[in-house]
Amino acid sequence: MAEEITLLESLRRRGVSRRGFLKFCTATASLMALPPALIPRVAAALEQAKRPSVIWLSFQECTGCTESLTRSHAPTVESLIFDHISLDYHHTLQAAAGDAAEHAREEAMKQHHGKYILVVDGSIPLAENGNYSTIAGISNLEMLKECAEGAAAIVSVGTCAAYGGLPMAKPNPTGAVGVSEIIKDKPIVNVPGCPPIPTVITGVLAHFLVFGSLPELDHLGRPKVFFGQNIHDRCYRRPFYERGQFAETFDDEGARKGWCLYKLGCKGPITYNACATNKWNEGTSWPVESGHGCIGCSEPGFWDFGGLYKALSVPTGNIGSTAVAAAALGVAAGAGLAAMNRSKKQAAAKAHETMTVTDLNKET
Ligand code: SF4
Ligand code: SF4
Repeated sequence: MAEEITLLESLRRRGVSRRGFLKFCTATASLMALPPALIPRVAAALEQAKRPSVIWLSFQECTGCTESLTRSHAPTVESLIFDHISLDYHHTLQAAAGDAAEHAREEAMKQHHGKYILVVDGSIPLAENGNYSTIAGISNLEMLKECAEGAAAIVSVGTCAAYGGLPMAKPNPTGAVGVSEIIKDKPIVNVPGCPPIPTVITGVLAHFLVFGSLPELDHLGRPKVFFGQNIHDRCYRRPFYERGQFAETFDDEGARKGWCLYKLGCKGPITYNACATNKWNEGTSWPVESGHGCIGCSEPGFWDFGGLYKALSVPTGNIGSTAVAAAALGVAAGAGLAAMNRSKKQAAAKAHETMTVTDLNKET
């Protein structure tokens, strides 16, 4: 059950100094993409922040969302935020099983009524009275309604919880839907992705810790700060797209030179997510950087909106004339493009550097 210590105290117990705490506040503000002017406000709030109770329900899912969040090799700023929450119920991570686990859920709901955060991953089956998926004899539908009633806010983690995802793919035998199709009277934030980016999940939790509310959302219920731009707009391969330089196969000359993956089915132009800037595996890389097009995993209708390797209908913009002009510019322009490409890549990496506890306590 939640121990009533502040975040500052929790960090002290991990050996983080006052100076380290201020660095932590700066990194947290950057995680939420807040301007530096707001750092003192973030520090004041985090100094007092108590451990919020979190109930995490996993329904029709593959456990990829939880795997994504726990795949951290060093205690980073993001993992410190995750450590600070009181995870009172989580099917995969909790030690308790059977009656003890269900008792923990009921106790957390009673003790923190109106204040706990409900995190959901996985879709909810509605067909056959919800009997396709049950936990402790309770259908997912029933458990969701029961837990949502006393929640302060709901975080739908992953595309399945946000929009139905893979279980909802045609012909959708279980009648799977996302959380917002069922719960209409609670603030809900969608953090889609298959799986979602861990820093985005913790960014949303950090916002709740600092401001006691959910971040600003777009028309699909996603935090604007992470989903405000599409993959294509932030992609470091974009200059190749503009010049009409596309890889035609995964092992041709264009693929080796890092050209645009549009013709290989990249869904970057219609996908809103933070992969191109936040990246994956503690900022190491992201799918397009490792040579595979975006498959649009964070959009509603993921799986039913076209083949993974089928190119979108036509490239946007006047690619033809751009390509002709580019050809006239010759080799020198190609070298300039490569440099621009590299600098975009470096800028994206720099904007979201991973910070560990050791970094927090470094003198510089
Ligand atoms: S690789 Fe994909 S996201 Fe990047 S520029 Fe090409 S189409 Fe856009
Ligand atoms: S690059 Fe596209 S498909 Fe891959 S994780 Fe990001 S949003 Fe999903």
